[in-house]
Amino acid sequence: MGQRFHRLAHSFSILVDFIFPPVCLICGDRLAPSQRFVCDGCWNGFTPLQQPLLPIEMTNLLQEEEKYFTHSFALYDYSADIQHLIHMMKYKSMPGIAARFGREIGAALARCDQLRDVDAILAIPLHPLRLRERGYNQAELMAREISRVMARPLLAGVVRRRRYTQQQAKFAKSERARNVRDAFQLLGPEGVQDKNIILVDDVLTTGSTMNACARTLQAGGVRTLTAVTIVRI
Ligand SMILES: [Zn+2]
Repeated sequence: MGQRFHRLAHSFSILVDFIFPPVCLICGDRLAPSQRFVCDGCWNGFTPLQQPLLPIEMTNLLQEEEKYFTHSFALYDYSADIQHLIHMMKYKSMPGIAARFGREIGAALARCDQLRDVDAILAIPLHPLRLRERGYNQAELMAREISRVMARPLLAGVVRRRRYTQQQAKFAKSERARNVRDAFQLLGPEGVQDKNIILVDDVLTTGSTMNACARTLQAGGVRTLTAVTIVRI
């Protein structure tokens, strides 16, 4: 039944596209058959950051806290359009946007000389309940593409989220560190020992979630950790 169902589903999606042609999520123009979610003009309009890779001390993040990752890499300048896309990716069941962001980030990382010695890619995990609600982990979909483009292994099942934390966006900045503290648990230290690791999430806001996960990974003897996101807010 599998194949037949897929053929039927494919025919149905062609029919739906015919009746409701897909349009760009940013400008509303009709998309070419080769384009998904966003037209080429709008993608090319996103401004890449002049300095995507920064030592964490140069970002003003985590000023009062001990830092467990050394660098932040973000691809784009923060804008309302990027914010809209990230929202659609996370809350409107559009995982394909995560894969596209992952490809763009992966290509930029592969061009970055300072990241030549990266050994592996890892995504910030979602709590299993949140994963069930959403159906996918956008950070993992991004990490999968980054791993493919950079030709470095994707580490899975190394850390897990053991507390169902409230969504960080609901908290004041000062409360976010407390909300995620001890939220992560290391399952497979042997996979990260002595490695230079890229840790992927969608956005870097206060850095608290990234730092909490990085702290857990450091307990496994990681060599370096670079936080990789679409934007720094
Ligand atoms: Zn467009």
